[in-house]
Amino acid sequence: MTESTQTNSGLFCSFCHQDNDKVGYLIVGPEDSKICDLCVDEFYEFIADPEFVGVEDETITCSFCNQNKSEVEHLIPGNDVYICDKCLDTCSEILQEIIETN
Ligand SMILES: [Zn+2]
Ligand SMILES: [Zn+2]
Repeated sequence: MTESTQTNSGLFCSFCHQDNDKVGYLIVGPEDSKICDLCVDEFYEFIADPEFVGVEDETITCSFCNQNKSEVEHLIPGNDVYICDKCLDTCSEILQEIIETN
C-alpha cells in the first residue's frame, strides 16, 4: 500500500521546497499549494511561541482556505504561500490518519 506516495513523485513542498522524496508526506491544497509534514511540525512550534507574530497584512490570505489575518489566529508565511493555524490543524489531522492507516 505505497501508491499514495508514488503518485506524488516530482512534487515539492511550497514552503521548504524540499522534494516529495525527502519529506515524509506532502499534503496538496488548492491552487497547487503543498505543505510537507516537516513544515507542519515546524509551524506548530512557531505558533506555540507567544512571541510569534506571523503575517499582519490583511490583504494576504491563506493559500489553503483563502481566509485572511482577520479571520484566523495566525498566518504563517512561506515563499509566495501562506498557511493559517486552522489549515495546520487540518493538515495535522490528515497526517495523523495517513500515519495510522499505514
Ligand atoms: Zn515543507
Ligand atoms: Zn487556512
